[in-house]
Amino acid sequence: MIRLIYFSCAADELTMADIQQILTAARRNNPSQGIGGMLCFERRYFLQVLEGERAAVNALYLDIADDSRHQDIQILSYEEVQQPAFQQWSMGFAPSNDDFYRLLSELGQNQFNPQAMTADQALHFTLQLAQQTQIQPH
Ligand code: FAD
Repeated sequence: MIRLIYFSCAADELTMADIQQILTAARRNNPSQGIGGMLCFERRYFLQVLEGERAAVNALYLDIADDSRHQDIQILSYEEVQQPAFQQWSMGFAPSNDDFYRLLSELGQNQFNPQAMTADQALHFTLQLAQQTQIQPH
């Protein structure tokens, strides 16, 4: 099983309706591909974790990288894992709420900037957010 973490810059004109559309597509498509993960978004950046079998994750990543709703995609990590950490989420979503900013401040950030995160920090950040009860599963 592969865990891929990337971040990207959201398109300028992106709205919450676009985010909702992305989540709807993810939650419709990911289960049949055996993919789980977490999407974080705050104003400028996306940070996403994708977990699943190698071929499925690679194919989805190529589709996502081609999506005009974001740009400047950079992979933070791509690794084999024994156990998925986000299997309960077809695509969890972490809105920028108080917990989000509290966790960011623990990383020394007052604005969400995944570019400045190490792969370990990005994983820790998304895992912590996944454990917050406010996040809607599936
Ligand atoms: P569709 O039903 O074809 O698309 C749903 C709607 O999204 C369309 O009506 C259209 O308005 C809009 N849309 C679709 N593609 C684009 C595009 N390239 N540019 C602008 N608008 C578009 N998809 C997943 O399946 N799983 C994921 O985990 C996932 N994560 C994503 C994370 C990010 C940050 C982004 C930007 C996109 C993500 N997507 C994800 C969407 C992915 O890029 C494809 O759009 C989607 O997989 C197409 O699936 P579909 O054909 O079922 O959706």
